[in-house]
Amino acid sequence: MGETYNAYKEFKKIVQSSGEKMGISEDEYKVFLYPEREFMVSIPIKMDNGKTEVFKGYRVQHSGIRGPYKGGIRFHPDVDIDEVRALAGWMTMKCAVVDIPYGGAKGGIQCDPAKLSKQELERLTRKYTMMIEPIIGEDIDIPAPDVNTNAQIMGWIYDTYSTIKGKSIPGVVTGKPLVIGGCASRVAATGRGVVITIENLLKEMKKDITETTAAIQGFGNVGSITAQLLYEKGCKVIAVSDVSGGLYNPDGLDIRELLDYIGPERKLLSGFDKEGVSHISNEDILTLNVDVLVPAALENQINADIAEKTGAKYIVEGANGPTTNEADKILKERGIIVVPDILANAGGVVVSYFEWVQNRECDRWEDDVCNNKLKAIVDAAFNEVWLTAEEKDVTLREAAYMVAMKRLIETQKIRGLFP
Ligand code: GLU
Repeated sequence: MGETYNAYKEFKKIVQSSGEKMGISEDEYKVFLYPEREFMVSIPIKMDNGKTEVFKGYRVQHSGIRGPYKGGIRFHPDVDIDEVRALAGWMTMKCAVVDIPYGGAKGGIQCDPAKLSKQELERLTRKYTMMIEPIIGEDIDIPAPDVNTNAQIMGWIYDTYSTIKGKSIPGVVTGKPLVIGGCASRVAATGRGVVITIENLLKEMKKDITETTAAIQGFGNVGSITAQLLYEKGCKVIAVSDVSGGLYNPDGLDIRELLDYIGPERKLLSGFDKEGVSHISNEDILTLNVDVLVPAALENQINADIAEKTGAKYIVEGANGPTTNEADKILKERGIIVVPDILANAGGVVVSYFEWVQNRECDRWEDDVCNNKLKAIVDAAFNEVWLTAEEKDVTLREAAYMVAMKRLIETQKIRGLFP
């Protein structure tokens, strides 16, 4: 039996091993092993049945060295302090690798949103916002959506914060609905970034997207949009999955039909029935013989066991932390290329940055301006990481951390360590 998975330990290990590979002393990267500030709250709300329930909430600010803290808020039963610490650290690295002027943070509430009414969800979101209000702000720390949170929830955060402050402050949160200063490109941005990354990788591999097969674990915001965009580009998406299980068709799934089927109420894929489409397990989706596997659900999905078994040639991480360090070693030995989360799924935070800039300038950019700028940033980061991996003979994950840590350490040196 291996050690029990701990996301924060995984984060520290990769920072440490990348620091060693860079040939720098621990003294230079030590500050990035620890979050700068951790905020924990107990959030009491009245449930619809009149009873009081108390939820645990977190906001962890990992590093503010390159700019305001930035990162999403997750609503999930498994949220705990170590998960939020890791997610916050990954945000610091993500913003640094794509070179946008933010630090990293993450928040979360330990809850199962599927079991809450819309009214309970709103009360929970607003109370949490009120409780973390002292440490967020448009120049301080800017939340955004993550697993199980969406534009409506960001709208409640915006309204609660603005009500406390007595004026509208749209730049306090990104991923908002369009009518209150959201950016139209934001909803699809993470999936779009994943697809741009896949195209960059295929270009290096001299492989045409129309001759490529893909499997996608997770059919939420990131997974479903990745599937849709790949499908529209002529890639054969042979398998997708959600919490209820997976669907498989070796000739390719009709992704538009699946999107119509799940609809706005987001029906579970297990209820889908069509000739030629079989139902497969979560393990099946991760181990299929496929060109590109996109884990777009949660962390700790590709462990050592899956890494031994997977038939994927390339893994492009739509989720944060889906591959363990142990699995990474096995994948490297097996010659399976992994494009790491901090690079592959950075599209979301990049367009969050565009939304924030527009809010602060009271401006609105056209969608194609956002999408073109997104592509330019993701392409540049991919090239830099790819070249670093070649030059230093390291994996793409190690290279991405090297690029990010170099920027962080340079900034740290110039700013100095107060006092
Ligand atoms: N939650 C997303 C991520 O993990 C987006 C964060 C943001 O837009 O600030 O990258």
